[in-house]
Amino acid sequence: MSQFKTVRGMRDFLPKDAEKIRYVEKIARELAHLYGYEEVITPVVEHYDLLSAKSGEEIRERMYAFSDMGGRRVALRPEFTASIARLIATKMRNAPKPMKLFCAGSLYRYDEPQYGRFREFWQANYELMGSSEPEADMEILTLTNDLIGRLGLRRYWFKIGHMGILRGILSQEGVAEGQQNLIMQLLDKKRWDEALTLARESNVSQNCIATLKKILETKGKDASQVLKTAKRVVADYDDAVAAVENLREILELTAEGNVKFETLVETGFARGFEYYTGIIFELYVPEIEIALGGGGRYDKLIELFGGEPTPAVGVAPGIDRLVLAMDKQKVSLKISEESKVMIIPVDEKLRTKAVELSLTLRKAKIPVEVELMGRKVSKALSDADRRGATHAVIVGPEELKEGKVVLRDMKKREQRPVEIKTLSKEILKDTS
Ligand code: AMP
Repeated sequence: MSQFKTVRGMRDFLPKDAEKIRYVEKIARELAHLYGYEEVITPVVEHYDLLSAKSGEEIRERMYAFSDMGGRRVALRPEFTASIARLIATKMRNAPKPMKLFCAGSLYRYDEPQYGRFREFWQANYELMGSSEPEADMEILTLTNDLIGRLGLRRYWFKIGHMGILRGILSQEGVAEGQQNLIMQLLDKKRWDEALTLARESNVSQNCIATLKKILETKGKDASQVLKTAKRVVADYDDAVAAVENLREILELTAEGNVKFETLVETGFARGFEYYTGIIFELYVPEIEIALGGGGRYDKLIELFGGEPTPAVGVAPGIDRLVLAMDKQKVSLKISEESKVMIIPVDEKLRTKAVELSLTLRKAKIPVEVELMGRKVSKALSDADRRGATHAVIVGPEELKEGKVVLRDMKKREQRPVEIKTLSKEILKDTS
C-alpha cells in the first residue's frame, strides 16, 4: 500500500547509511570548531516571505510552502542562508565582527528526484559575516578544501566565478536588477542562447552582447590566465574589471597561503540564488556530475532584512552528496575500533545481575547490550556474533559466587573467568 512507502523524494536512512550521514556531519562540526564557527540552530519552518526574498525564482517555485493553522504563510527552509541573515539582522546586530556561524540540518526543495537530488537533503553551512576582505573569501575556500581533505576525497575541483562580472556589465548597460536575475537564472541552467536573447531584449549595446559572448567562453584551469583574458574582455565595464581583480586577489591569496586545490574558473558562471554579489563557487568530483557543495559572497542580504550593512560570504556542503562521493571514491569512514559487549545471563534469575553489570560497563563508556530475547547461551552467542559484538559476558551462578563472570573474546573464540571488579579494564585492554 502506498502509505507504507516513503513520500516521493524522501528517504529512509538505515543504520549503515545513517552512520555515514552523521559521520560527515561530525567531521563538518569538528571543522567548524577548529575554524571558530559557532553552531546555531534555526527552525525548519520560516516565513515564506523571508525565504523567498532573494532566493531566486527556481527555489521560490520549489518551496514546500503552506499556510499554518494560524493562517501564516510559511515554508520548510530550502536553504540556511536566509535564516542566518535573519539572525544577524535581528538578534545578533551588535555581535563583534566577524561573526562566524555554523549550522547543519535538513532542507526541503520540491526538486525532481533523480540521482543525488532529493526533496529532503542535508547540508552543513558555514557563514562568515562582517568582512568584505578577500581573506574572508579565502577562509571559506580554505575551509571547504579542508573539509574535503578530512573526508578523504581524493579527486575534486572548485568551479569558480564572480557575480560582479556579469552584474557589472549589465548594470552599466542600465539593465534593471529583476531583468538581470532572469538572465542569471538562464545562465545557471546553462541556457546561454536564451540568456543572450534576453540581454538583447533589454536594449543593451552591441558591445555588451559581444562582451557577454566572450565572457561566457572565458574559462579554464589556469586561473591567472583566465582572469587576464577576462580583464581584457570586460575592459569597458569598470565594476566588472573590479570584480575580476577581486577574484584574482582571492585566488592569489589562497595560492600564497599554500592552500592547494584544482580550479576551473568560468567567468560566465552564475548560481541560482539572487543574493550573491561576489565570488561564487561549486565543488565537483569527476565521478558525479552534480555539485557537492556551493557558496559565495552575499554583501546585501543582511541589510535587506533590516540589519546593518554587513558583507558576508559562506559555503554549504551537501552532506548526503558528500557521502555519495565518498562511496564512489571508495573512501572508508575513519571510525575508531570500539568494543561492543553483549551480556548474557545463563538463567532468568540472573537477569537483574546482567542489567547491573551493563550499567557498570557503560559508566566506563563501553557500549553494552543485554540479551533481551530469553535465549539460551549458545543461541545468544551466535546472535552476539551476528550483531558484531567484540565480547560476550556470560553471567552464571558458579562464577558469580566468586565475584566473577565469563568474558568471551568473540573473534578469538576464547573465554576465561574474570573478576567483575576488573571486567571493564579487561575489555578495554583487549580493544586498545
Ligand atoms: P545550494 O544550496 O543550491 O547552493 O546547494 C548546495 C549544495 O546542497 C549542493 O551542492 C548539493 O550538495 C546540496 N543540494 C542542493 N539541492 C539538493 C537536492 N535536491 N538533493 C540533494 N542535495 C542537494
